[in-house]
Amino acid sequence: MITVEHLTKRYGEHVAVDDVSFRCEPGTVTGFLGPNGAGKSTTMRMICGLTPSTRGSSAIQGVPYRQLGNPGRHVGVLLDAAAQHAGRSGRETLALCARVLDVDRARVEELLTLVGLSDPAAKRRVGGYSFGMRQRLGVAQALLGDPAVLILDEPTSGLDPEGVYQMRTLLRDFADRGGTVLLSSHQLREIEAVADRIVMIAKGRVVADGAKGDLLTTSGGTRVVGLDPVALRTALVAAALPHRPADPAGAYLVDAPAEAVGRAAAHAGVVLVDLRPAEHEGLEEMFLSLINSVPQEIGS
Ligand code: ADP
Repeated sequence: MITVEHLTKRYGEHVAVDDVSFRCEPGTVTGFLGPNGAGKSTTMRMICGLTPSTRGSSAIQGVPYRQLGNPGRHVGVLLDAAAQHAGRSGRETLALCARVLDVDRARVEELLTLVGLSDPAAKRRVGGYSFGMRQRLGVAQALLGDPAVLILDEPTSGLDPEGVYQMRTLLRDFADRGGTVLLSSHQLREIEAVADRIVMIAKGRVVADGAKGDLLTTSGGTRVVGLDPVALRTALVAAALPHRPADPAGAYLVDAPAEAVGRAAAHAGVVLVDLRPAEHEGLEEMFLSLINSVPQEIGS
């Protein structure tokens, strides 16, 4: 369990994180979604005791990170995969970490296999690793102490599609076994593919927080394609239904139920070739509109 209450971080006049509160429950993956600069890393660094908060508090299993005894046994953290020691091999990195955490050495080999860094990769110096390999090593390091909680900042960046799939499976398994996962991403698709809950943050503020299914449902909207896109657009304007162009060219996302869109088209005599709930696109639209709805100058 992770609890975050009113966390706030100011850098001078700039408010990087503004009164952020949320909870991550055992058995769930919570996706922490927001564009670059939204305040995800700063929030995670505050949860992990690396950046002092200006205000607010956070706890892991009910205890502030800095008060956890042997924290790596409770929470696995991946905040900056580039921060690994370049001169050690992947295996040496994990072996050293195992000693610090007082973990059985056999776990090192298990984890190297789990994250796809068996020999010869395990023998190579980390300085020669790609960013994706460093991410894999960082995740292995996070899992080493067999923690109940994982906090991972953009763990899939730098991974190839197979690596992304493996990471998702690994996180899903971890949560299904009762673990608590908080993972950040600036990509909606990444979060959507693995998270049970979504906390969206924009310009330091939480703009949405809920079960993924609920957010998808409330996003509503309809995707529509007409035989004649210009006539369809005219019909949507005439019916005063808010809409915007979508892919492929000629398609529209409409902020209205399918029936209202169908009626508007019928009224104008427009032939429709596609009419359905805009689930996927709806969430994306919501993400973009929520981000844009936050005032530019926060805390000023
Ligand atoms: P994200 O992880 O969502 O990309 P960050 O948490 O890294 O966002 O950054 C949030 C905001 O805080 C950004 O505007 C960033 O420039 C600012 N920021 C982060 N760290 C510092 C720092 N050490 N000093 C000043 N500003 C910072």
